[in-house]
Amino acid sequence: MNTIRAKIILTFTCLMLLSLAAGFWSIYNFYGLGTKVNNILRDNYQSVLAAENMMKSLERQDIALLDASEGEADPRASGGKFWENRDLFFYWYNEAVRSVSMPAQEPLRDSIRTAYGLYAVTADSMRARLDQGAFLEAKQYYYDAVRPVSDRLRNLCLRLFEINQAAMYDAMPRTHAFANQAAYGMMVSSVIALGLSVIAMLWLTRVFITPAEQLTERVKQIGAGKLDLKIDVLSDDEIGQLSREFNKMTERLKRFEQINIEKILSEKRKSEAIVDNISDGVIMTDARMRILHLNPVVTDLFAPGAGDAAGRPLADVIRDERIVRLVRACYQENISPEESRPGFLEFENEGGLYSFKPRLTRIVDSEGSLFGVLLVLQDVTQFRELDRMKSDFIATLSHEFRTPLTSINMTVDILNQGILGPLNGRQKELIDSAKEDCFRLTKLARELLQLSKLESGKLQVKNEELDVQGVIQFSIRPLQLQFAEKGLRLQIEVEPGLPRIVADEQQISWVISNLVTNALKHTDSGGTITVRARHDVNAVLIEVEDTGHGIAPEHLAKIFDKFVQIKHVSDATPGSVGLGLAIAKEIVELYGGRIWVQSAPGKGSTFSFMLPLPVGMGATA
Ligand code: ADP
Repeated sequence: MNTIRAKIILTFTCLMLLSLAAGFWSIYNFYGLGTKVNNILRDNYQSVLAAENMMKSLERQDIALLDASEGEADPRASGGKFWENRDLFFYWYNEAVRSVSMPAQEPLRDSIRTAYGLYAVTADSMRARLDQGAFLEAKQYYYDAVRPVSDRLRNLCLRLFEINQAAMYDAMPRTHAFANQAAYGMMVSSVIALGLSVIAMLWLTRVFITPAEQLTERVKQIGAGKLDLKIDVLSDDEIGQLSREFNKMTERLKRFEQINIEKILSEKRKSEAIVDNISDGVIMTDARMRILHLNPVVTDLFAPGAGDAAGRPLADVIRDERIVRLVRACYQENISPEESRPGFLEFENEGGLYSFKPRLTRIVDSEGSLFGVLLVLQDVTQFRELDRMKSDFIATLSHEFRTPLTSINMTVDILNQGILGPLNGRQKELIDSAKEDCFRLTKLARELLQLSKLESGKLQVKNEELDVQGVIQFSIRPLQLQFAEKGLRLQIEVEPGLPRIVADEQQISWVISNLVTNALKHTDSGGTITVRARHDVNAVLIEVEDTGHGIAPEHLAKIFDKFVQIKHVSDATPGSVGLGLAIAKEIVELYGGRIWVQSAPGKGSTFSFMLPLPVGMGATA
């Protein structure tokens, strides 16, 4: 009786028994009604029929007697008719006797019997006269003796007819009442059956549906993560068992989750400990630029006393605007690889001057959407210090080189010109080679000195307003001869109305002429070199495009580094030491600009650099 199956079977069995009882009750009522109607019809209708037929047979006996008194040709025919109808009369009389059940009809029946006995006697007397051939006398006798008895008998039969007809009418309201009673009984039984069905349904709902609904609701809440909830075990049936099993499962799930949370927390603590103990600064932000984690290096230097920073917007916590700008730039999808490799970040506090190399990484999830940004501020203070010392050393060294190099150069020139006597072929060869080495060494010393001055910030620069077209012309003029010698075409395309830039003319023209010299070196005769200048957003963009042999993609990233030279078959230029682009980069960055290259082997190269315009000179604040 504990299972849902048993409960459902029991309920449906009860409902079936109820329906059967209501059905039997209806059949019983209809059967009673039928019997009643049948009894009325059987008794009274039979009597009405018998009375009617008795009257008819009496009539026919009268007619047979009268026909015989008329002296008909065949007296046996009327006699036969008479006897035949007398039998009929008796037959119907007996039928009436059989059906009459009402006590009130019993005297009437006796009267009919007595009256018919009298009629039979008078009819027999008349027939005796007829047999004697006294037709007239017989006729007279008929009217005097037979007819009055016949009339009385007919009246009695009519009474019997009318009584039974009235009894049939009387039975109608009784039948109606009985039919009503049967209908009422059926209605009551139907209402009882319906009421019991509703009770059974409510019981079934309470026993089965309610716990099922409660179970569903709880399962939903547990599914949403409320593992502390328990399902009440309301019954011992299948739902009760299911609830018990579900509670066990939730318990296991809770334990499992706790173990997992502990594991995750311990892993998180481990990685935080690692991040917190590294000497570089680490900033981790989420997709909306809110702080996920800052390590103590960052907190101490850039957000002292900021408290718990997790979840707060980066700009609210980090005081240094440069860091916020760097991270913000990394959120822009169209950021180029050069932009995400910014230069050094100098930071000064009571502890001294710090140098950081920022490294930005966009963190994307498996679906490719941005999860956050990781900024590692590599502490390069010591390296920068060493670099500065090295630059100073190189500057001193290259400076010291210049005086002896000038004297060697002069000596070689004097010897070469034969002022101290003519040179033989071998001597001339050696002196030419020494001259070439001197040139290379002088160029190296000059470039090293320039680079070390730029790196140490000791280069004296002028800030003057420059017309870009003029600077380009100034840079290219000394190279015109080389273009003609090598058979190369030079094109200059400067956008009209270009705003003036603010920089040192010597430095900017050094960059342009270095880029054009490189293009000259790496483009075969018949090619074209185009120098372009145009207005970009808040900046002026200068490009040097050539149709030379181009640069392989694997070299593009390091081409602006110091002493990087990519050997090519056509390279035969003396004095190349791989410092030209490194110096150009230092100069461009000195003015807050950027330099980059686009190139493909066999398709030429385009070196571009942009110089930001000061506010009020075509640039908007
Ligand atoms: P260098 O003074 O030796 O030319 P640079 O720093 O100017 O040094 O250039 C570095 C390297 O870049 C060169 O060795 C050369 O292979 C490559 N390079 C520079 N400009 C071009 C160019 N326009 N086309 C092809 N390669 C170039």
